[in-house]
Amino acid sequence: MKRMLNEGSAFREEMIAGYASAYGRYLQRVPGASGVMANGTPAPGRVSVVVGGGSGHYPAFYGLVGQGLASAAVIGDIFTSPSGEQCYRVAKAVDAGAGILFTFGNYSGDVMNFGMAEARLRAEGVAVCTVLVTDDVLSAGPEEADRRRGIAGGFYVFKSAGASAARGDSLDDVEAFTRHANARVRTAGVAFAGCTVPGQDQPLFNVAPDKMEIGLGIHGEPGVRVAEQMPARDIAAMLVETLLAETPAGTGSDVAVLVNGLGGTKYEEMFVFYNDVTALLDQAGLQAYNPLIGEFVTSLDMTGMSLSLFWLDDDLKSLLDATASTPAFTSIGPDVTQTTASASNAPATGVGTTSAETDAVRDEGGIPGGEFGESVRAALRQALATIEKMESELGRLDAAAGDGDHGAGMVRGLRAAVEAIEGFDGTARQTFRRGGIAFQNAAGGASGALVGAWLIAIGTGLPDRDEAVDAAAVALALDQALSTLQGLGQAQPGDKTMVDTLAPFCAALNDAAARGLRISDAWAAALPAGAAGMLSTIDMVSRRGRASRLGERSRGVQDAGATSIYHVLYAFGTGFKNSGS
Ligand code: ADP
Ligand code: MG
Repeated sequence: MKRMLNEGSAFREEMIAGYASAYGRYLQRVPGASGVMANGTPAPGRVSVVVGGGSGHYPAFYGLVGQGLASAAVIGDIFTSPSGEQCYRVAKAVDAGAGILFTFGNYSGDVMNFGMAEARLRAEGVAVCTVLVTDDVLSAGPEEADRRRGIAGGFYVFKSAGASAARGDSLDDVEAFTRHANARVRTAGVAFAGCTVPGQDQPLFNVAPDKMEIGLGIHGEPGVRVAEQMPARDIAAMLVETLLAETPAGTGSDVAVLVNGLGGTKYEEMFVFYNDVTALLDQAGLQAYNPLIGEFVTSLDMTGMSLSLFWLDDDLKSLLDATASTPAFTSIGPDVTQTTASASNAPATGVGTTSAETDAVRDEGGIPGGEFGESVRAALRQALATIEKMESELGRLDAAAGDGDHGAGMVRGLRAAVEAIEGFDGTARQTFRRGGIAFQNAAGGASGALVGAWLIAIGTGLPDRDEAVDAAAVALALDQALSTLQGLGQAQPGDKTMVDTLAPFCAALNDAAARGLRISDAWAAALPAGAAGMLSTIDMVSRRGRASRLGERSRGVQDAGATSIYHVLYAFGTGFKNSGS
């Protein structure tokens, strides 16, 4: 496991130093203690809210220190509670005389260490109380709800505490609102893979590739059970059902919703999950209020996520809405932008396809397709079959100098092209154009734009009627398509791109057509020149596209696009032949 790390033993100190120096506009280190405190603390007359726990959970807990949220955070080592002494020192530093509220997850180390600090402060006459976060419904049954651990739902507890303290509530009131918030929040989660402590080589635990852990803690504590990995919608259904089964008594239909990534999960996956969650909440008659999707409590690099529901009432809503300004969370006040799905759901069109589409509609007008139209459809199907077989090989070639997506993009594009011409019986010109537009819309990436434009341009370059298509017409259309592709991509022969296959192929096709060969023979005669062009890219240095950033390092690998386009040309030849053109 590779980490950005100096000596493992210095990790916590260096992390805090970097954090505090980056975010000096919100907070500063507590002198002589392992923690940070908000600028402007101690704030006279205000209760101070002190959060904390082990590290490895960022943005919990110290990411939430700032105005309107936590006054201070005590920072322990990775997954390790801070000591009682540290908790005491940090609390002492922010004590403004109005009292201290400790709030943190219900873990025995934290309970003991913050507890020692609490006892010591109380002995000194400081008013202090503690609210434990116990939102993880899967960590103990409802009859033992106070034994539950604290996970992502702690965010709502801390936010309520911080907002109550910031507006000047008394310690009793801050405590009461914080307890109320904790009583109204429920969380359940799943993990897909374990996490690795910096400085160690092995994850703390493993999850088999086809399994997931349900109800896993944020320190690698075992989950309640192991299940088969499921699609997002089934995970959403399971977690929503689990949480709704524990709906707090006397609640209404407004719920704040938080999807929390555990550290190794992409935001995009969380959005997929939320898409399923929101439908289920709708069905249950609940209104999602200001959903939050992101990382709130992580567990190093663990993959997986949790769902928290926070049943709101007027008090909790105003605490949640209150302004806050911290490195990890900002609220600019009550949300005035709540809107429902807008009507502007029109599907987006690909770049440059609008006028092409208009053209395509124009070409539709009553020209019967002939034999070559059928050949082109066979050619596109053949190209799809060929490129599907090569998908991973093309990905590997692209990965050597680019980003590895070339095979996937070509397959996506060709599938869309073949789908678009399914059942179509128009001319070759129309078929290339339809297929090209679909390709361009679906494939994406540099090659999606380029190959899509190339296919469309081949169509545009062909005569209106199939009967007028001969080898010379095809060669001319391919020349025009190459110009279009080069106009778009600005690549010249020798730049290590698909142009290096296409340019010699086109030249050879023109020669063959000039010799009076029929389409399929001229095409076959031109293929060796394309193959030689493709192979010539091995020794080239890339000057176009992503790979061009690598300079000399791009030498030695055959260009992915030059390879795929050669195999497309080869497959087209088979398609033309099969249909007897
Ligand atoms: P992306 O670079 O967006 O990931 P792909 O991986 O699908 O796109 O395609 C990469 C291939 O596209 C390259 O191997 C090269 O042949 C071709 N390519 C990239 N840029 C250009 C360009 N400007 N002109 C011609 N071909 C290009
Ligand atoms: Mg790529």
